[in-house]
Amino acid sequence: MTTLPLPIRSQADTCTYCPKLCRFSCPVAEGEARETVTPWGLMSLLRLVDDGHVELTAEVGEVFFHCTGCLRCQTWCRHDHDLPTAMRHARRMVVDSGLPTPPALRGMDQAMEQHGCAGGPVPSLASAEVFDAGSAVAYFPGCARRREDPEGVVLVGRLLAEVLGHKVALFEGDDAAPMHCCGGALEQAGYGAAADVWRERLSGALAGYEQVVTECGDIDLPPDGPRVQPLIDVLFQRMTSWMGKTAQSAGGAGNASAGLVALHDGCRTGRKLGLHDATRAVVTAALGHPPADMWLSRDEGLCCGAGDHYPLVAPDGAAVAAGLVLGALEDQGAQTVVTGSVRCAGHMRAHGDGVEVVDVGRFVARSLGIGGE
Ligand code: SF4
Ligand code: SF4
Repeated sequence: MTTLPLPIRSQADTCTYCPKLCRFSCPVAEGEARETVTPWGLMSLLRLVDDGHVELTAEVGEVFFHCTGCLRCQTWCRHDHDLPTAMRHARRMVVDSGLPTPPALRGMDQAMEQHGCAGGPVPSLASAEVFDAGSAVAYFPGCARRREDPEGVVLVGRLLAEVLGHKVALFEGDDAAPMHCCGGALEQAGYGAAADVWRERLSGALAGYEQVVTECGDIDLPPDGPRVQPLIDVLFQRMTSWMGKTAQSAGGAGNASAGLVALHDGCRTGRKLGLHDATRAVVTAALGHPPADMWLSRDEGLCCGAGDHYPLVAPDGAAVAAGLVLGALEDQGAQTVVTGSVRCAGHMRAHGDGVEVVDVGRFVARSLGIGGE
């Protein structure tokens, strides 16, 4: 008898007998060049474990961490399968069974409690003048921006003040209980039960705000909570408030020397949140003309390998995935790539120096002369 939720079991059944129609689309399968980590391989293994034909050991469980959560396979799946949800459930089975996760992910539940971020300590920000703690609009950067790009947090704070016409509050919990992560990082690492508890706490802490602006693609608040809006969507909805200021300077003074600018669709902002058109409109406004699309774009856009802790689980595979994206951009002659994801920007920057990589928030800020770059 199955222990999997019915939709996941049903998807695993179909995958097992599928001629791997999505095989070519998976950045992990390409990056590692082995069948075990194809979408078909992951789901077939999950089904074998569910049926009791394969024992869930640490070695078997480790396989379920080889998915970036990109949803690219779904684009070519005739059944619209959701592999990231299935793999996060499988990882939860690993942790709930008391089995060890990949070494780099261990202890993330404790780090979350201590630092408010599963990745560890978060740099402090001495930026009180940029934010207004009394605002009804909170900016929740997400752990990629908050931990890896603290200067970017301040830039986006200034950008939001310009775009909305007022300062926003920087939400970060408090000293006793810092909160920089939405809980998605825990779920991706297998700590699903801890993620559920964390999300409850986060929902309570954010309940007093009317609106939450975020760069996190995994935040999930109850429908009666504050309105959650991705930063790209805020920039899109408020475009008339800022686009004229960049047009006056021939495409924005800060981006005038960006060369050929190409757009990389972030997996979360694109396939998950459906912000393809909004992203293009925003980058076009910041640039003064449309950016170049990559050969594969929108729902077909390439995954750089940055998601779901994959660079911590399989650094070599993640480097190959990033290299495929950067190589395609260089072949296209791009000198600058704008990506919808802060995490993707950091990952691609770490793996290539032939192309400048900028996230949308920083790109728009730069077009408005915010940041002094
Ligand atoms: S996700 Fe869809 S296309 Fe890919 S192996 Fe499963 S059934 Fe086939
Ligand atoms: S979601 Fe992305 S990484 Fe995961 S199996 Fe599908 S294509 Fe591969």
